[in-house]
Amino acid sequence: LNYHATRFMTSAPTLATCPPDAGHEVAFAGRSNAGKSSAINALTQQKALARTSKTPGRTQLINFFSVGDDTQCRLVDLPGYGFAKVPEKVKLEWQRHLAAYLQRRESLQGLVLLMDVRHPLTEFDEMMLGWADEQDMPVHILLTKADKLKPGAAKNSLLQVRRRLREWEDLVSVQLFSALKKQGLDEARSRLDAWLAP
Ligand code: GDP
Repeated sequence: LNYHATRFMTSAPTLATCPPDAGHEVAFAGRSNAGKSSAINALTQQKALARTSKTPGRTQLINFFSVGDDTQCRLVDLPGYGFAKVPEKVKLEWQRHLAAYLQRRESLQGLVLLMDVRHPLTEFDEMMLGWADEQDMPVHILLTKADKLKPGAAKNSLLQVRRRLREWEDLVSVQLFSALKKQGLDEARSRLDAWLAP
């Protein structure tokens, strides 16, 4: 697929306002600051498709992008998670929307879960993996900002995460990624291809 031709479609605050549930889509999730916006921009070779801004208000929206003109083939940017300043009530509301999206969205083919290579498998990540497991939803993990570690240390982190998720190796794959150094783009794109253009 030509990810360079990806363009913004619409933002939805709830499941009910998402675009029609037809075709194929892949969702990107991660704790705030995990590098999700940077990864989406790198994968689509666009400077500012996904916002890298940290405004909590904006992040509550589910953003939909079409790959080229085909609105049946979509990338979905799920709200970042983990702003300390967001009230508990808002967090719970947000979790409810996210769970509903993951549980009910028929066109969702897989989840890309982004984790900072230096702090993988946070409580949020475990929650997402738990939900994905309940749905038998495949997950591809990007260990982001791999350039922040020496190659040996990054490789170690990769092996450690793989080992901890060995139980789910049929559903979960893991790779190193750096938006800054353009590392792991081809590997990530072929995973997206497999889900979006089977
Ligand atoms: P998001 O909140 O998950 O969308 O994260 P962002 O994409 O906005 O990135 C959060 C911070 O990490 C920003 O300061 C980015 O510049 C930085 N960052 C993102 N990707 C990389 C990367 O591959 N390498 C390095 N060194 N920094 C990165």
